Amino acid sequence: MIHSIVTSATRFIVGGGRLASSASRQTRLATCHGCEIFSAGRCQSCGCFVAIKSWLAHETCPLGKWDLQQLTPPATEGTEESPV
Ligand code: SF4
Repeated sequence: MIHSIVTSATRFIVGGGRLASSASRQTRLATCHGCEIFSAGRCQSCGCFVAIKSWLAHETCPLGKWDLQQLTPPATEGTEESPV
């Protein structure tokens, strides 16, 4: 776990210290909270506390679930075609 903290901190600094947007954090947390390997606030794959990990723009989900969320186009109001 110490190794992953040091690795993440290093990548955060090297990456310019960017934080994730509020919308991105909320999406990430919602994804983690619905994940089968989320337990007691931590990802059981990487061991990270997701409440902290979600803030760091450079972080990724080890199973690619955050990427899937980002590929899903956001819902927009008034742009759907009428089925009639
Ligand atoms: S980071 Fe990915 S694998 Fe880990 S708990 Fe969140 S969604 Fe699940």
